[in-house]
Amino acid sequence: DTIGANLDRAAAAFGDRDALVERATGRRWTYERLVADVDAVALGLLGLGVGTGDRVGIWAPNCAEWFLVQYATARIGAILVNINPAYRVHELEFVLNQAGVRTLVAAPSFKTSDYGEMIADVRPACPDLRDVLLIGRPEWDALLEAGRAGDRARLAEIGAGLGPDDPINIQYTSGTTGFPKGATLSHHNILNNGYFVGELCGYDEEDRICVPVPFYHCFGMVMGNLASTSHGACVVIPAPAFDAAATLEAVAAERCTSLYGVPTMFIAVLNEPSLEGLDLSSLRTGIMAGSPCPVEVMKQVIERLGMAEVAICYGMTETSPVSTQTRAGDSLDRRVSTVGTVHPHLEVKVVDPDTGATVPRGTPGELCTRGYSVMLGYWDEPDRTAEVIDAARWMHTGDLAVMDGDGYVNITGRIKDMVIRGGENVYPREVEEFLYTHPDIVDAQVIGVPDERYGEELMAWVRLRPGAEPLTAEALRAFCADRLARFKIPRYVHVVDEFPMTVTGKVRKVQMRAEALDILG
Ligand code: ATP
Ligand code: MG
Repeated sequence: DTIGANLDRAAAAFGDRDALVERATGRRWTYERLVADVDAVALGLLGLGVGTGDRVGIWAPNCAEWFLVQYATARIGAILVNINPAYRVHELEFVLNQAGVRTLVAAPSFKTSDYGEMIADVRPACPDLRDVLLIGRPEWDALLEAGRAGDRARLAEIGAGLGPDDPINIQYTSGTTGFPKGATLSHHNILNNGYFVGELCGYDEEDRICVPVPFYHCFGMVMGNLASTSHGACVVIPAPAFDAAATLEAVAAERCTSLYGVPTMFIAVLNEPSLEGLDLSSLRTGIMAGSPCPVEVMKQVIERLGMAEVAICYGMTETSPVSTQTRAGDSLDRRVSTVGTVHPHLEVKVVDPDTGATVPRGTPGELCTRGYSVMLGYWDEPDRTAEVIDAARWMHTGDLAVMDGDGYVNITGRIKDMVIRGGENVYPREVEEFLYTHPDIVDAQVIGVPDERYGEELMAWVRLRPGAEPLTAEALRAFCADRLARFKIPRYVHVVDEFPMTVTGKVRKVQMRAEALDILG
């Protein structure tokens, strides 16, 4: 199926039901109105000369127009290029040129950044860029108006010529371990993945999904938007960018049944003072993904937010994204200690990263995935594609995992983050989990720093509860002393207010390692 055909089916079945709600402006779309506006944007883009395979950039925080452009580009077979809202001129210019963006739809500004100004700055250096449309400005309104007057029969004609394996999206990875890579994805890749995510969450037309995670990333646009529209559910946008209070407010006001977030967002939501006064009883499920979820956070999400069926998903941009997911019937223990089992229609295996041989169950190794969800390739980078997808089409994830006898997968970290201290492998994740049990620590991250004697030593970065006493390395080591093996006890402790983050809410350990070198002198 193509995304356009799938949306038409939803509109035929659920025309008068809510499809999209934008809390910041109070705007709402039923499926019928959504399809009409998607078609208007699609026809407007056609009017600008955008054709099948042309790249259309979207550079905006979460808003209804982002959603419309996502479906409008898929409708005409144009390739949507998701641009990170946190980018500045240098990265913007890189992405526009790397993907050869012809038409750019952008918010006029976001937070303290004037997008219009930045686009004007890079434009002379971006020869492929023909049209720029700032949302809400006259050129955007003109596009909509022209599109509304357009001939919708043309869209049906174009739709009939599109195939499910055509590329329709370039998504950049989070850039957690280095410079982001552009994964080229097809209708089938992301629509199918969104559909199965929704299936496993048990979505139907009664569901209302609160999506505070960025649309620019697969978590928002696939696990949120596509999972929703492929089941006739509704997406609620609580705010343009993550805001804990606005998220909770949206859940209560819109009676959301599902809530998404990376673990750090759930931590913020759980620490939000307005939580206690709100009626969140509509919440049934949700998804936590993107990075490991601390046990304590999971317990509180179930108990205090009432998300009894909350799922953990594991995946990566390159695989559309989800490969494994916990199921509603999984025990609490499995939902805190694993990322679930393989998704329908996909395969996963754990291999020895050196030999490539599949390791026995219970043995750590590199996780590999195969099936419909594996990207077409990195855009315009065949060499980098060949480094991660092997001849048998297995995607090598770069993540360390252990699979148990029942097929449950536990992600133990990234190959790049593993610390080798005095010949012992230390998985930072395990130490982080332990540090969470300290009463004053609300968030902890562990990295390896160079050490003459042991090769590497552990350094813990921690965020403390407001009002907590200062925490010294000695005190933390004493806390760990009888409970952790000596080689896992952090030698250094660094107290911070915030960790360096990607816009998708992941901690950037590369940056922490660089800063650690300065801190240690
Ligand atoms: P880059 O590839 O640019 O360094 P990235 O890998 O963070 O950045 P994404 O594609 O957004 O970019 O994230 C995929 C990665 O996120 C996975 O490879 C894995 O390391 C991590 N991840 C995703 N889900 C989970 C999860 N449930 N538990 C633990 N880690 C997860
Ligand atoms: Mg990655």
